[in-house]
Amino acid sequence: MAPRAGQPTLLPPGIAVCGDASSPLIRRAWPEPPHVYRSAFARDAARILHARAFRRLAGKTQVFTRLPADPPGDHLRTRLTHTLEVTQISRTLATALGLNAELAEALALAHDIGHPPFGHAGEKAVDRALRAYGLSFDHNLHALRIVTWFEERYPAFRGLNLTLAVREGIVKHSRDYPAGEYQELAEYFPGDFPPLEAQLIDLADEVAYLTADLDDGLASGILSVGEVRDALPSFRDLHDAALGAYPKAAPRLAIYEALRGLLNALVTDLAQEVRARVAELGAVTLADIRRAPARLVHLSAGMDATRAAAKEFLYARLYNSPEMEELHAYAERVVRELFAILMAEPALMPEDHQAQIPTEGLARTVADYIAGMTDAYIEQLWARHSGR
Ligand code: MG
Repeated sequence: MAPRAGQPTLLPPGIAVCGDASSPLIRRAWPEPPHVYRSAFARDAARILHARAFRRLAGKTQVFTRLPADPPGDHLRTRLTHTLEVTQISRTLATALGLNAELAEALALAHDIGHPPFGHAGEKAVDRALRAYGLSFDHNLHALRIVTWFEERYPAFRGLNLTLAVREGIVKHSRDYPAGEYQELAEYFPGDFPPLEAQLIDLADEVAYLTADLDDGLASGILSVGEVRDALPSFRDLHDAALGAYPKAAPRLAIYEALRGLLNALVTDLAQEVRARVAELGAVTLADIRRAPARLVHLSAGMDATRAAAKEFLYARLYNSPEMEELHAYAERVVRELFAILMAEPALMPEDHQAQIPTEGLARTVADYIAGMTDAYIEQLWARHSGR
C-alpha cells in the first residue's frame, strides 16, 4: 500500500531494536527462559506497569502540587496520567516509524518512575540537600536504582530484572553520559547515543507536557485563552479555525480542538523530521544511530520554534507564576526539613531502608527514601516528625 500524503515512511528495519531471542539487548541480569507468546520488551512494560513505584505516580505532582479547591481539580494531570499520555505518544511515534513499539512503551512507562514528590520543586530540593554531602540527585539514575534494586516482587532476585535495552533507555532517554563519568553505567554503552526508541521518549515527554499544561493551565484558571493566543501564533491559528468551523461550540471545546490540532502537528512533524534526519545521514543500522554525530530525534526548525515559545510561555506564566512559587517554596521546605530530621534520626526510616546505610551512606539512603514518597506521604511524615 502506498503511503498517504503526510504519512511518515518507515525507517530502514535494521534501525529498530531487535527483541528476538538472538538479540544481545534482551539480556537480563538473571537469565530467564523466554515466554511462550510475549516478547521480552512486552514483559518489561508489564513489569513496570505492575511495580509499586509506578502506582505511586498517581500521588505525585506533575505541575499542580496542590489541586485548586475551587473548581475541583481531579481532572488535572498527575505524574501517572502524564506518563500514560507520554506512553500513547511514544507508541504512536514508534509504530509510525517502524521502530520497536513495545520497547518504546516500556521506556515511556518508566520515564518518570524516579521522580520525587512535588514535581521539579521536590527534585531540586532533594538535589540541594544531597549537594551538602558532595552528592547529587538525577531522576534517571534513581529510576535505574528502583528497577534494579528497590522494587521487590520476585523471590529469585531483587528489582524487576529488566532487559539491557530497557535499562539503557531508562538511564539515557533524556541525557547522555560521557564514557567514564559513572562507573555504575559501564554496561550501558557509555559514549554512544541510545537507540531511537529511547531518544523518542524525551521529545514525546515534552510534546505531551507542553500541550497538557496549556490545557491544565487554562482549566485551572491560571492561564487565559487570550494570553495563550498572543504567545502562540500556531495555537491562535488552530483556535481561529475551530471557532470558524464550530461557531456555536462551547468555548472549551474550541480550545480542545486547537490543543488537539497542536499536539497532532507536533507529533507528525517529529516523525517526519526523524525520518528526514535518518535519511540524510544514510543510517541503516542501530550502530549507525549509536555513533551518529548527534541525537536524531528532533522537531523541524519551524516546529521547534513553536515548542520553544510554548515552553517559554509556560515557564513565565505557569511554572514560575506567583501562585506556583508559593507551592514550590512549601515543597522545598517540606523536603529540606524532613531530610534534616532523617539525617539526625535514621531510626525513623523503615528497616529495609536503614539496611542500605552501610553500603550507600546515610545521605543517599535518606534521599532514596524521600524520592520514593508520594506528595501526601511526605507531608504526613513531615507533619508527624516536625511536630506540625
Ligand atoms: Mg515526564
